[in-house]
Amino acid sequence: MISYEYNDVFIDGTFRRASNTAQVPAINPATELQFGFAPDAGVDDIDAAVAAARRAFHNPDWRQSRPKERAELLRRLAEIFHAKQDEIAAVITAENGMVLSASKAFNVFGSALRFSYFADLVDGWSNEEVRPAVAPPGAFAPLAGANSFTAPVGTGGTSPDTMGKGAHTIVRQEPVGVVGIIVPWNVPLSSIAVKLAPALAAGCTAVVKPSPETSLDAVLLAEAVAEAGFPPGVVNIVTGGDTAGVALVEHPDVNMIAFTGSSAVGRQIARSCGQSLKKVTLELGGKSAAIILEDADLDLFASNLPTCSLGGYSGQSCRASTRILAPRSRYAEVVDAVSAALSALSVGDPLDPGTVIGPVASKAQYDRIQRYLSIGKDEGARVALGGDRPIGVDRGYYIAPTVFADVHNQMRIAREEIFGPVLSVIAYDGEDEAVAIANDSEYGLGGTVWTADADHGTDIARRVETGTIGVNTGGMPPLNSPFGGVKGSGLGREMGPEGFMEYLVPKSIVRID
Ligand code: NAD
Repeated sequence: MISYEYNDVFIDGTFRRASNTAQVPAINPATELQFGFAPDAGVDDIDAAVAAARRAFHNPDWRQSRPKERAELLRRLAEIFHAKQDEIAAVITAENGMVLSASKAFNVFGSALRFSYFADLVDGWSNEEVRPAVAPPGAFAPLAGANSFTAPVGTGGTSPDTMGKGAHTIVRQEPVGVVGIIVPWNVPLSSIAVKLAPALAAGCTAVVKPSPETSLDAVLLAEAVAEAGFPPGVVNIVTGGDTAGVALVEHPDVNMIAFTGSSAVGRQIARSCGQSLKKVTLELGGKSAAIILEDADLDLFASNLPTCSLGGYSGQSCRASTRILAPRSRYAEVVDAVSAALSALSVGDPLDPGTVIGPVASKAQYDRIQRYLSIGKDEGARVALGGDRPIGVDRGYYIAPTVFADVHNQMRIAREEIFGPVLSVIAYDGEDEAVAIANDSEYGLGGTVWTADADHGTDIARRVETGTIGVNTGGMPPLNSPFGGVKGSGLGREMGPEGFMEYLVPKSIVRID
């Protein structure tokens, strides 16, 4: 059995004792046994980490580094992840129960790809662009009498007419500053990488606060950062719980919070950032819909269920299409196909290469999902599959893949995020009603449309209020496409050039030569 016991936090390029002796335990959800711990850092550690990040941000070594140099560091980090793939994947599987192959794919290669993607994006990038004054002479004539245009700021009283002659703007993209990164436990390293990589590419510095359930892999990330050779203080990693998270969000020297987690906590963070006018990105919860159209190939949909509706991780995925909308004419057929596909998935030890569904991440998750199983039954939904622990499994936080039928969209199991291997099948009459049900949700993160006519499916996808939607595919969008939510699913975008721009602030330098 692996064992990891850490007492240190990673601040200013070194591992140092945390300011208090409290610990967050690492508990293997497959065995229910503790196999390690990390510091439960306090406010003093966050203060020290933010101070180090602030110093590093102003250090000319980093401040004046070229994008190419930052790209090289990110590429080195990607290489180290590849070299340490077995250890990182095994630690995460022990922490959160994700099956080993998925842990490697999503957390190791997923993170390395994100480091490499942003390295490539920024390599050769110039943060300044010259824009000639576009106003032709006389363009402002009708406004010449207006006070605000008689002496434009920065022109020394030059009239608007003359701004057209030799005037230009240097539009400069500057790094936001110190970024606080706070993530959950479900895809812990990728969730960090998708924020850390663009932040570093942009020239920001960072303080990372992982989820308490997945602290150990964050320490492995700290070791990789140290090995890659980032200047001290550019990346700081402080393990701990909600107290450390709140301290980071409220810290006056933090310029931006990049958060992934629940919508409830996201709203608290947004309130705090609103108060201090910090920039914030929020990747929050979801309750996405899979719209099965009349002409859909159910075999194709069923074969995609593990990624589309379980998110590759027992449904503990924000973007999973957990509401399955079936045309009433095919309702029974859809319930049968979904139940058959889920019952064929092997549930068991996440280290076993044949396992598709491991345990859920923690006792808290297990209890939460069990509560929703009771709620669904009490609301009158019919259990078409599962509905409890898998039969014969008496150890570990396992939930049998569950299909609720006869669900309507006002039930709590259709409205609230369960975050487990629990799907609801809802009948609809006509495509307009399917779109209306899909949109009748507090959330708007993912979604899918299944049809033999991809053009028509795309038209349906255009009508769904969401940030990301697949037509005959249920996977994540490729790295060059933005990912994020609308409504209660969040603010801002990750990945793609859009995800890079979140970490930059434009500055206009207007100049007349
Ligand atoms: P959570 O919101 O409880 O915790 C997330 C992180 O926030 C943890 O590190 C936690 O310690 C910290 N935290 C908690 N309270 C805080 C506060 N007041 N201030 C600052 N930090 C605080 O979420 P969770 O239960 O760990 O994760 C599951 C949730 O994450 C689900 O709702 C899921 O949908 C969401 N999620 C979203 C995405 C996405 O990309 N949209 C991806 C993965 C997970």
